[in-house]
Amino acid sequence: LRSRLPAVGTTIFTRMSVLAAQHGAVNLGQGFPDFACDPALPQLVTDAMRDGHNQYPPMAGAAPLVDAIAAKVAALYGRSYHPALEITVTAGATQALTTAILCCVHPGDDVIVIEPAFDSYLPAIALAGGVAVPVSMKVGEHGYSIPWDQVAAAVTARTRLIIVNSPHNPTGSVLRRADIDALSDIVRGTDILILSDEVYEHMVYDGAPHQSVCRYPDLAERAFVVSSFGKTYHVTGWKIGYVAAPAALSKEFRKVHQYNVFTVNTPMQHGIARYMADPAPYLALPAFYQRKRDLFRASLAGSRFTLLPADGTYFQCVRYDAISALPEAQFAEWLTREAKVAAIPVSAFYSQPTESGIVRFCFAKQDETLHLALARLAKL
Ligand code: PMP
Ligand code: GLN
Repeated sequence: LRSRLPAVGTTIFTRMSVLAAQHGAVNLGQGFPDFACDPALPQLVTDAMRDGHNQYPPMAGAAPLVDAIAAKVAALYGRSYHPALEITVTAGATQALTTAILCCVHPGDDVIVIEPAFDSYLPAIALAGGVAVPVSMKVGEHGYSIPWDQVAAAVTARTRLIIVNSPHNPTGSVLRRADIDALSDIVRGTDILILSDEVYEHMVYDGAPHQSVCRYPDLAERAFVVSSFGKTYHVTGWKIGYVAAPAALSKEFRKVHQYNVFTVNTPMQHGIARYMADPAPYLALPAFYQRKRDLFRASLAGSRFTLLPADGTYFQCVRYDAISALPEAQFAEWLTREAKVAAIPVSAFYSQPTESGIVRFCFAKQDETLHLALARLAKL
């Protein structure tokens, strides 16, 4: 078979999790919590099953869930999406991202991808026949930033889509108002669409607001906004998320969704809809994760790692040049084997070989897990 994705292998997340298990390492690589979700949530899903919510739901999502999503987005970001026409429930954010790309990118269209970038974007662009146009973030003393002049310079008549991700995996950076303004300037007067990956929307620290693109009408009118309940409710294995987009974009999104996924499992939709009636769980997330971030940073403050800013997500990036001159992938493997702590090399998030001497740790872990890993890291 002639591969549609010849360059694609097994994801770095899977490989590092396997290596961590082989070496009995603490797994701070792949991003997922090692603690349980609120027991009320699976109880509500069980209740939904017992109540008979076990057949196909409507194609775009069960009414109580799309209603709850629209109400939440309106309350938090001030944009009123029509629940029946503009919200679509997906099998995780990954499916939302791929479907959004497939529904709007034609063969030969350019898609601007800001790197480092989450690993699902490029294969989806390739499947659509699009051309990924990477623009690298700058990394300096104050962490990662997007060179908007370079994004602007990358725009051509073929540019169909710009993908943004805030809070950003893997760097932990977040879009600020100035970034939003720069993006708005770039797309104004064009027919460029925006795919905004906001799965870490509730993990923004130090009191900063989450700059959802849907807050800004000029951006929202051309944007697919993606989120994931897996991140928000500590259930990454549930694989359920959604896309919010204006009706015309949602209509095209659903054409692909309908014949790729058709519908997303019913009882979880009802269970999550009921759970969403209380905003407390997601409103508590910034403080919950900021405490873990601060614990992580305090423990490594005197170590030979250099901490980059961690303004959002549950990831902390570090430089390790005082410890090793190895390339990132080898350093991450060495760390897993020898120090017994797994990390993710940031080089895995670039389309071209790129070495920055930076690896990513996930701090979505119980304090005991973090203490164990941090004691090992602080000794290096
Ligand atoms: N986007 C980013 C930036 C992510 O980190 C993740 C989680 N791995 C996803 C999308 C995918 O989310 P989901 O697990 O809901 O498919
Ligand atoms: N989002 C998670 C991460 O960045 C992992 C997702 C995956 O394994 N595909 O670590």
